[in-house]
Amino acid sequence: MRIVITFLGPRYREGPFVPISSLDRDIESHLADKSVRYTSGRRLVVGALAKGGGPRSAAELHSDLHPRVPLSSLYRSLTVLQDAGVIVPHFSAHGITRYELAEWITGHHHHLVCLECGAVEDIDISPGMEARVRNLVDEMAGLVSFTPVSHTLEIEGRCSRCK
Ligand SMILES: [Zn+2]
Ligand SMILES: [Zn+2]
Repeated sequence: MRIVITFLGPRYREGPFVPISSLDRDIESHLADKSVRYTSGRRLVVGALAKGGGPRSAAELHSDLHPRVPLSSLYRSLTVLQDAGVIVPHFSAHGITRYELAEWITGHHHHLVCLECGAVEDIDISPGMEARVRNLVDEMAGLVSFTPVSHTLEIEGRCSRCK
């Protein structure tokens, strides 16, 4: 498990799948605040990530989006969107960087990481379960007088396909 500090917004806490239209408007105004243009290529990258299912690598996004988004523009979009706080990188045990929409967009969730095939899936847990996770995180951080702001729980193992 790793404890990371991230900005956690109040919106979209109900789950990772949100209608692309309202999501697009919010991201557009978020980018406008940072004087970043929401180009069609960037919209396509966000749209591909908004489909859910877990973090995706540049290669996976490329196979989804080419030829509409050329590879060079895909990499540039990933950098720009990451710098602007719209997407966040996820580093897997296999050394592959995958990207997902930031939690202020998707809502809080955790990850299941397959050690065989490297697949990373999102998992939502009930508010009751989440409260138990938060208590445990608070307790652990309290051991070293660390103040937790947020957390990411990663469960490593074997996915149903690799069993
Ligand atoms: Zn697997
Ligand atoms: Zn949690």
